[in-house]
Amino acid sequence: MNNEEILKLVNNNPDSYVQIIKARDKKFYNTINDRYTGDKFGEKLYQYIYSNTGQCKNCGNKTKFKSFTTGYTEYCSKKCSNIVTSSKRSETVIENNRNNRHVHYETKKCLVCQNDFESLKSRKQKCCSAKCSGIYVSSQPNRIEKIKETKFIRNIKAIKDKRKDLTLLKNKKISLTI
Ligand SMILES: [Zn+2]
Ligand SMILES: [Zn+2]
Repeated sequence: MNNEEILKLVNNNPDSYVQIIKARDKKFYNTINDRYTGDKFGEKLYQYIYSNTGQCKNCGNKTKFKSFTTGYTEYCSKKCSNIVTSSKRSETVIENNRNNRHVHYETKKCLVCQNDFESLKSRKQKCCSAKCSGIYVSSQPNRIEKIKETKFIRNIKAIKDKRKDLTLLKNKKISLTI
């Protein structure tokens, strides 16, 4: 019996193909039974035809044999199937993020070297690199002055706030002692 004949026979007689093969070709039946391992003749025949012994796609452990038409289950356990599906899921997330990049990123021209660069839309990045940023900042003396100025004002405000807190504390203490 060749593979084609066997497959046809199984297809036409899904419930009784074992008996039919046994009756039609006892020698073949015995050979399959001896050479392959499995709980049932159907499983052994499946291994003979598809040279598939049922190995978990994740860990390589033996998987459950369902039937000749369905074959083996893909994974040995729920755990293994979950590991693979969840890693597939995170791959999809990464892929989606990549496709959605244009939503969050835009291509800008560096003000210093004129090269295109990608930047988050939410960031007001003007240069492609730290090096260019340095050149850009140093070419804008007013800007540096401004930064210094705001920093200075901020510092003074912080000092004032601290003083205010201190006097408040002092007053509190006084009112407590009184
Ligand atoms: Zn497994
Ligand atoms: Zn640049």
